[in-house]
Amino acid sequence: MDSTPHEPEPGTRTPSADDRNRPTERAGYWRSEYLPDGTERYWSTLARHCTERDEDRATVAAALDAITWYRHKASVPFSAGASLNEIIRQLTSPPIAAGISEPPITLPESGLSECDRALYLRDPALLDSDLIQTTSVVALAFRESNAVFLMYYLDEGIQARPVALDIRDMDTAPGRSIGCGAGLHQICRGRYITEDRETRPCQCHCGCEQPESALRHD
Ligand SMILES: [Zn+2]
Ligand SMILES: [Zn+2]
Repeated sequence: MDSTPHEPEPGTRTPSADDRNRPTERAGYWRSEYLPDGTERYWSTLARHCTERDEDRATVAAALDAITWYRHKASVPFSAGASLNEIIRQLTSPPIAAGISEPPITLPESGLSECDRALYLRDPALLDSDLIQTTSVVALAFRESNAVFLMYYLDEGIQARPVALDIRDMDTAPGRSIGCGAGLHQICRGRYITEDRETRPCQCHCGCEQPESALRHD
């Protein structure tokens, strides 16, 4: 198998052309790639059956782009909340946000036989329609120091299957909320807390600014 160990170097997200799209077998991820913004994306071996074809990977990648993020502890308004909440319950540190992609996507079921899998890889139309699932991607975002970890799962009803992991640098420009710094602008409430525990308007240019009057409430 063409496998090149791929050691990410924290803080350096400017890959050379050779670094892009190189396969990896590290830590349960069968492939890694760099996105144009420098985000490093790992594709999970546990969902390889859903991402091995370029077209399927593009379907999942489009779903990742279409994720709506919610602040952690906001009630998560989707049915996948149950499996997500179960994951969150078992974590040692809480996520900064949870998300879900819409609309749903269709992918092959997990646990295909070798034969069905070969059939599918030859032509998806050959696979029995019972073996195609409709699913969504649910996601959790974590911050660790100056890095942001976005963990993506396929919602399989009673379980969540890890499908991909993104790692990117926090934007450490001053005057930003954690949400905007993490690139999760949807969860910013237009303000941030200074080290002196003062509330100030968020300086991000994403449109999260709030009128001064709004800052007085909570
Ligand atoms: Zn922002
Ligand atoms: Zn903001």
